[in-house]
Amino acid sequence: SIPLSFFAGIGGASKAGVLVKGSNYLEILSQTKYVVFDKTGTLTQGVFEVNGIHHNEMEKEKLIEYAALAESASSHPISKSLQRAYGKQIDRSRVTDIQEISGNGVIAKVDGVEVAAGNDKLMKHIHVKPINCHQVGTIIHLAINGKYAGHIVISDIVKPHLKEAIAALKRAGIEKTVMLTGDAKKVAEQVAESLEIDQVYSELLPADKVSKVEELLKMKGAKDKLAFVGDGINDAPVLSRADIGIAMGAMGSDAAIEAADVVLMDDDPMKIATAIKISRKCLKIVY
Ligand code: ADP
Ligand code: MG
Repeated sequence: SIPLSFFAGIGGASKAGVLVKGSNYLEILSQTKYVVFDKTGTLTQGVFEVNGIHHNEMEKEKLIEYAALAESASSHPISKSLQRAYGKQIDRSRVTDIQEISGNGVIAKVDGVEVAAGNDKLMKHIHVKPINCHQVGTIIHLAINGKYAGHIVISDIVKPHLKEAIAALKRAGIEKTVMLTGDAKKVAEQVAESLEIDQVYSELLPADKVSKVEELLKMKGAKDKLAFVGDGINDAPVLSRADIGIAMGAMGSDAAIEAADVVLMDDDPMKIATAIKISRKCLKIVY
């Protein structure tokens, strides 16, 4: 039978806005030593602003329009941001043959024209050579009918109170904080440094994030546990693979809430340390 104090623990966590899906997760939380974060939508708001546009022959407005339309079927934060930057109503009937390549970008036909929007990996995949961009940011390259058309530089902002939340984890005895992202190295390092996250791995495909977590699982002490915090966009398999998956509940996708063991109802990152503290208190009462 489940000791009563577990119910108290789950209830206490729930009052704090943390949904714990089972008493076993309280035990795992209490033993957590590594906390691994996804970047976009987890550490950052997932709301990108356009900082720069480089365009070849095509008008800047047209480039944005193609990008927004090609992205119109995706729920990725980048897609939503490009649609917002376009600012006009999107007529979905203009978009066909949509392919979303996770961790790379999208390819779709807009008014019958093939539009590819994504990172270097996507350009490589379609054999288009992008021009170098020296601006720091997340770079969305565009190829129209297999020809390089330019790029849009976007950037996201770090969520408020995260630095305090990371510091609170350290104070709660977390040994290692790690960030995993599919985004570019420079952007990733900037975010990790500003938050004082110990380790950062960038330019990862969704499958690479799983392998990275598996590597980290082998590195930690045998009794120690690893938590992964994500938003479910391109990271649901990682949420499942970690000893404990923690999802952003408010901003996160249904996939995240489904795949996670713990859900932060209001996305407040400070609640991770709170949940760990509640779990330890509860376990102390049990044993
Ligand atoms: P993160 O690991 O930061 O959560 P993702 O794995 O979702 O990011 O995406 C990694 C990278 O793949 C993005 O930084 C972007 O370059 C590219 N990408 C992913 N989805 C899209 C999209 N819908 N449109 C354009 N680029 C995308
Ligand atoms: Mg993500």
